[in-house]
Amino acid sequence: MIPLLEVRGATKVFGGGLFTRRTTVALEDFSLAIQAEPPSITAVVGESGSGKTTLARLLLGLVTPTDGAVLYKGEDLRTLSSGERRAFRRDVQVIFQDPYEVYNPFYRVDHVLETPIAKFRLAGSKQEAEAMVERALRAVGLRPEETLGRFPHQLSGGQRQRVMVARALLIRPRLIIADEPVSMVDASLRATILGSLRQLNQEFGISLIYITHDLPTAYQISRDIIVLYRGSVAEVGDVERVVQDPKHPYTQLLVGSIPLPDPDRTWHGEAPPSPVAGTLRDGQPACKFTARCPHAMPMCVEAPPPLFRTDRHRAASCYLYRDAPSIKPDQIGEVLAATGS
Ligand code: SF4
Repeated sequence: MIPLLEVRGATKVFGGGLFTRRTTVALEDFSLAIQAEPPSITAVVGESGSGKTTLARLLLGLVTPTDGAVLYKGEDLRTLSSGERRAFRRDVQVIFQDPYEVYNPFYRVDHVLETPIAKFRLAGSKQEAEAMVERALRAVGLRPEETLGRFPHQLSGGQRQRVMVARALLIRPRLIIADEPVSMVDASLRATILGSLRQLNQEFGISLIYITHDLPTAYQISRDIIVLYRGSVAEVGDVERVVQDPKHPYTQLLVGSIPLPDPDRTWHGEAPPSPVAGTLRDGQPACKFTARCPHAMPMCVEAPPPLFRTDRHRAASCYLYRDAPSIKPDQIGEVLAATGS
């Protein structure tokens, strides 16, 4: 089956222009295929600089890969016809971290809901358009009478974000890229917005790529998880297994950083120092996590590790699991497919 959206061996390098020779590899040889059916929720987790925002922008066609390709229904985004691009724009929607930036402060919030209806000719009449808007607002827990007619600054951050979820619902895309959608709303509203996103998936059959630095919300909402570290996949698989029993030392660090309500457990943000950090040289091909890894071994500074399939439902890029069979980056899809079975 041809995937709805596919990243095939994508690498994105920034810099190296006329005025600077410095380059940054934001994403390296990354592959992921999102099928239209069954609707899935895949979390992409990593700290700042992990490449997750670059991945979101690649998926939306906002930047082009330096190497590799992003394909919509098998066609390279760079060569879509205007009709295909229009279909792509409808099928793949985004919900951003800061909804305020999406709004025009001079327009009432109605505008962000009415525009896609007009653009994609979703309604046959004004009455039908109004009914669609009201239905979508109610579906995300907003009262139309308290929402419509207001300016963006008159709504709370959580309400503005839910209006964006309602907008996505109106368009009925096949896939939503949700880029840190709850990082700017307070904790009490997070669950409501995550619930609305889950509803889009379960009731309306929309797949989600949930991009976040926040492991707990990824755990709450997704079935699959991809942990990125400095542009490469550290670990991938079933979210339950990855969070409950992380294999990669970086995932272990992320899980260990989650503050727990148990007063006997202390918060620990950093692991002990790497035993081989002193042997690392600039530009040396090595595991990217070596400098922070408490388990680093001499082999870790000789070549970057491939992904090792530690079990049917996950893979980790770490020499600690070198006895397991290695897989290529484009076989991540097989691991994710297994999580649903
Ligand atoms: Fe640590 Fe080595 Fe595994 Fe990298 S490959 S995460 S340095 S043990």
